[in-house]
Amino acid sequence: MVELPPFEHTSLDTLATVGDTLRASFLSHKTRPIEFRLVQLRKLYWALKDNAELITEACKLDLGKPSFETYLTELSWCMNDIIFMQKNLARFAADESAPDISFSNKFFAPKIRKDPLGTALIIGAFNFPIQLSLGPLIGAISAGCTAVLKPSEASPHAAAVMQKIVAESLDPSCYTVLQGAVPETSALLDQKWDKIFYTGSANVGTIIAKKAAETLTPVTLELGGRNPAIITKHADPRLAARRLLWAKTLNAGQVCVSQNFTLIDKEMVDPFLREMKICLSEFYPEGARKSPDYARIVNARQFQRVKKMLDETSGNIVLGGTMDEADLFIEPTVVQVTDLNDSLIKDESFGPLLPIIAVDDLDEAIKIANQVHDTPLGLYPFGNKAEVDKVIAQTRSGGVSINDGYFHASIPTLAFGGVGTSGSGAYRGKASFEVFSHRRSVTSTPAWIESMLDARYPPYTLKKGNQ
Ligand code: NAD
Repeated sequence: MVELPPFEHTSLDTLATVGDTLRASFLSHKTRPIEFRLVQLRKLYWALKDNAELITEACKLDLGKPSFETYLTELSWCMNDIIFMQKNLARFAADESAPDISFSNKFFAPKIRKDPLGTALIIGAFNFPIQLSLGPLIGAISAGCTAVLKPSEASPHAAAVMQKIVAESLDPSCYTVLQGAVPETSALLDQKWDKIFYTGSANVGTIIAKKAAETLTPVTLELGGRNPAIITKHADPRLAARRLLWAKTLNAGQVCVSQNFTLIDKEMVDPFLREMKICLSEFYPEGARKSPDYARIVNARQFQRVKKMLDETSGNIVLGGTMDEADLFIEPTVVQVTDLNDSLIKDESFGPLLPIIAVDDLDEAIKIANQVHDTPLGLYPFGNKAEVDKVIAQTRSGGVSINDGYFHASIPTLAFGGVGTSGSGAYRGKASFEVFSHRRSVTSTPAWIESMLDARYPPYTLKKGNQ
């Protein structure tokens, strides 16, 4: 058994000065050379590899996360992001010439420089504690920013391991991890940052955006889900059940992009439920409770929130429904709902609940999806090409996975983000570099061109166009 570092809230005194310290480092230009950033990324890569066991243990203690899920969605996720940046950083950071310029404008060498925004504050969420904290940090390092990371206090073991990893591997004058909950995060928000990158709920996102507005700080918000899945009458019920069950059982459904509810053509409800039952017994032959491959709810507060939704639903529980607070266990649970005002539909469950609603046809499914939340983080249509195309053409969402649950979010080079109330801004792949960069326009006017510029100077009286 590995020994985990302790989780301790950072003192408010330390928090009060961190912005100034990191800004001084940024203004020393230390982070500007690409080689400096590559060295930091390399050190982070090896620190992740060296601390793989600690990370796995921390995620197990925080969320009961199965080792395979930690490897897939936390460790290898971040390591692959670093490898991608290592390979592409020089290209991303290179100047870009202005596109489609006239012959005469070429003399001014118009171009875009990619400058770091400065000193960034990154605030993480609990559900993928490593990925959602170090992912943005990898972007900040790549872009040449200095940064403070404030992980979620709801996954304290992972937060403590990240603090250790960052302290041991990265330049401490440029990157640091600070710990805390609302008071500590508020103290950080009282300081001036050049960029705030926040992942979490929309309610807290509103607080962050308001605070950032006071100092005109640019913000990226990666917010909550309430994502619809749609199953048409031409979908394959086996595939839909298997893929959507996976999307709701990974991390016990504590996934911002997992489907919050599923709209099913009425002809497909019975076949879908039949397949869902089979898939559940295939995934967990001894039941989810006994399976080492099924995570737990992060804490009692979140457990009570999910339980309340299930206790108060007007729908019928058709599969699952067992819970155990002592073990923070909630069984994958399918609920047939008819009331669109049921909290299972209008609120984000962020747990292993699979509410389904029978619909008459695809038009009704699209109408309900748009009515419940017209800018979700993800959307998951299952059907034939014409049906899927229609769904995409008549809805909005941060991303789409056709015939799957949130696969789009797993492609490392695809920008990931929400739209409207599910978020603004995106990261991953090149977008992780761009979100912490400023595209700075530059021209250079040569001395020899002065005679050609004569026309722009007053007096204008004798000049063409003014006669
Ligand atoms: P949360 O909003 O409760 O907490 C997120 C972070 O904000 C934490 O670090 C927390 O300490 C801080 N925080 C909480 N209250 C605060 C306050 N009043 N002032 C300042 N900071 C505060 O979110 P969570 O419970 O960690 O995560 C669940 C939510 O996050 C869900 O809605 C989920 O959909 C969303 N989420 C979104 C994404 C995404 O990429 N879009 C990813 C994961 C989670």
